[in-house]
This record gives sequence, structure tokens and C-alpha cells, in this order.
Amino acid sequence: MCGIVGYAGNVRTACGKPLEVCLQGLRRLEYRGYDSAGVALTAPGMDHVAVRKKAGRLANLVQDIERDPMPEATVGIGHTRWATNGVPNDTNAHPHTSRDGKVAIIHNGIIENASQLRLDLQTEGYHFVSETDTEVAAKLLGKISDKIIEETGKPDLFKAVRRLARMLEGAFTILATDVRQPDIVVGARHDSPLVVGLGDGENFLGSDVAAFVAYTKRAMEIDQDQAVMVSADKVVVSDFMGNIVPDPKTYTVDWDASAAEKGGWDSFMDKEIHEDPAAVQRTLLGRLDENGNINLDEVRIDEHDFKAIDKIIVIACGTAAYAGMVAKYAIEHWVRIPVEVELAHEFRYRDPILTPRTLVVAISQSGETMDTLMALRHAREQGSKVLAICNTQGASIPRESDAVLYTHAGPEVAVASTKAFVAQITAAYVLGLYLAQVKGAMYRDEIAQTLDSLKDMPRKIQWVLDTQTKTVQEAA
Ligand code: GLU
Repeated sequence: MCGIVGYAGNVRTACGKPLEVCLQGLRRLEYRGYDSAGVALTAPGMDHVAVRKKAGRLANLVQDIERDPMPEATVGIGHTRWATNGVPNDTNAHPHTSRDGKVAIIHNGIIENASQLRLDLQTEGYHFVSETDTEVAAKLLGKISDKIIEETGKPDLFKAVRRLARMLEGAFTILATDVRQPDIVVGARHDSPLVVGLGDGENFLGSDVAAFVAYTKRAMEIDQDQAVMVSADKVVVSDFMGNIVPDPKTYTVDWDASAAEKGGWDSFMDKEIHEDPAAVQRTLLGRLDENGNINLDEVRIDEHDFKAIDKIIVIACGTAAYAGMVAKYAIEHWVRIPVEVELAHEFRYRDPILTPRTLVVAISQSGETMDTLMALRHAREQGSKVLAICNTQGASIPRESDAVLYTHAGPEVAVASTKAFVAQITAAYVLGLYLAQVKGAMYRDEIAQTLDSLKDMPRKIQWVLDTQTKTVQEAA
């Protein structure tokens, strides 16, 4: 999954901040994996967008910029690519530009109708330098932008990106910059993540909050099929037709930048294993209200519907599916209803039996696992309710679910899941107790006692970790 960063600052003072934010954001998104990196910068008076991109590690790009510095700017966009269309090399790396170089875009995802659009543009005389689907979108955006100038006499990147988004099929998050509007960055998303970071006299965009959390913890959700325009002091969200979204949802990120640093450990995995106890503890925090009732985070499911549930299907991929397998034992024991665990990528292809009495539990650390997202959409179309267990606030999976239980494990950087896994099991246990409560399958005291014994888990995990550390030290 590639990384995306965007920055819009003060249009009166071009400076090094857009580049700094882009490079620092890309560094924080490196954990997602990538094969090349690039940035585009825009400032008033530029004739074309300043673009620099390099295959390989982010360090290659940084070295290249150190050798040959980039101009100061007011806005910037940055990208780490995970090649899908075209080999990883300097030319295929993002950003890609319009024919006249006035517009640049970065893109996460795959544009399914790129071949047809490319042929159409080639017929009109457009030349392509890369093999990517993204360059097709860049050339098309340039063409749309020129058309808008022709029609109205002025540039309108926001409108141009919306028109572009309506023409693209497939999955995309796109960020774009145009030298004729050096005060804004425009984004659009369809089946791919995008979040806004709200700053003071500056605003940010990112494929996840890690991209900008070092600068601001205030974030705004961008929904499926929405576009966003950010400047230093304004954020405007609309659908692809241009209808303004009056009150986009904002939230505060509950971890800070240091949580995504190694902090003295040899590896992120080492660090994150040692965060297991805290992850479990935070996931259990505040789950019992003053009347002794179990709390979930966001529930848009009627208690009556919860009572009627006669089957649970857990949908998840990889480690999250293992969390589901562990949870199955507890939930079946406590609630006495069958629990199936299904790999999300198989789910919608086998015509599963789903009714309004089936509760589908979608487990995902990032909340953006595409197979899980597709599976939950299928379940909802069939009339089942979906509850998400997720570690990332405001991600697509919790947003599209009927209820949410957040794991509060903090950012997980290591690819093999550790603390998010134990937090997922913990959250699934809380769900089991909640269902036992609404269905009357356990006595209130029993539920409270079970929750208390769960609260003792962090201490037990800590004991295991300490014992292991001691054994390793003694053996050394
Ligand atoms: N499909 C685009 C490419 O191959 C974007 C890949 C990505 O998400 O990084 O360049």
C-alpha cells in the first residue's frame, strides 16, 4: 500500500516547509512498503510544478534533493509508490504531470480503465513517458483543467479533480497541485484511504494520520467518493458532483508521533511486543458504565436487533482472522450462538448465508483491508449488520459498519502483528460480553467478574514478557 502526503501553507511566504512535511510524512509511511518515492512542489510565479522522484529507498530521493536542492514552495505533495502498472523505476515513480507540466498528481490504487483512456488521449496526440495508469490520469487532468480555463476564464483544480474522478474506474486516492493555484492541494478518494490533518495556518493530507501526526493531531474524515480542497486556512469537502459536505466529521488522534518511533528498541516488533500489556489495558478502559453495563464505542444497531442475532460470522484477513478464531471459543461459550470465522477474500465468492439475524464482525488493524471492506459491503447488501473491530479511528471499515469497537493499541508499524492482535482478541471478548448482556446469556455479576479477570491480563502478559527477558539475559 503506497503512502500519500499533502501540505498547504501560507501562499504569501514560500519556504522549505512543504518539502519538509512531505519527506517527513513519507518517512513515517515507509512501514507500508514501497519501491520508489517522489515529491512535487508549487509556489506563486512557477511556470511548471517542481517534481523530483527516485526509484528505491526514500534516502535516494533525499540525497538527490541534497545534491540539487528544490525551490521553496507554498504547497507540496509526496508519494511512496508500490508499483502495480509498470516496473519500479525513476520514470514510473510519482508524481506524474500534465502535458504542459502545470499540474502534477500522485495516486494510490489502480485505474481499471486506464488503457482505454490512454488510447483516447493518444488519438488526440498525447505522448506518454511512463507505463503507469497514473500518468494517464495526470494527462487527463491537465486536459480537463485547460478546458475549465477555456470555459470560465480561470483555473479550478477542485472542479477539475472532481471531473477526473467521475471518469476513472477502479480504486484511487489522488492528490493534485496546479501552478496556477499555488495556494491549494486537491484530493479525491474512491475505495482507497485519505485523511485531512487540520493545522493552524496550514493543513495536511495523508493516506493515514501517521503522515502528519508530528504536526497536528486534529483530523477530518473524507468519505467514499468525496473530494477535498485544502489551503492554509480552509478545508472544503464535496462529493464528486460538487455538492458541499456541510459538516465533515473531525476527531483527535489519540497517540503522538513518538508512538510510531522505535524509541531505543532494536526493532519495531520488539517494541510492539512489549506494548502488549498497555494495548490490552487501553482496549478494556471505560468498557463498564456506572450501571454496570458493557460499552461499545459507536453503535448504530438497535438493541432489539442485537437480541435477535442467531449467528456470528467473523470476516478478516491474516492475523486478524486468527484473532477471530480465538474469539470464537469465548463468544460461543458465553453467548451460546455459533461463530464462523471466514477469510474475507473468500467470503463474497461463496454465496454465504446472511440474514438480518447474522452479525458480521469485521476485524482489521488498519481499517482499510480491501478484502474485508468488500466483504462487509456484501454482508450489508444482504441485510446483515456489521460490527467493526479496528485500530484506526475514522478508517473506511469502521465508517461503513453499523457498530465499532476500537482497539487502542496505538500505531503498529511491524508487518507481523503483535499488540494489535492481542488487542483484537480483547475487543472480541468485550463484544462477547456485550452480546451476553443484551441477550441475557450471562448474569450481570458474571459479566463484571469476567471483565475483571480480563483486566488482570496485562499483568499476566507483563509477567510472561519479564520472564522471557530474564531467560534471554541469563542465556547470553
Ligand atoms: N497504479 C499506480 C502505479 O502503478 C499506483 C500504485 C500505488 O498505489 O503506489 O504507479
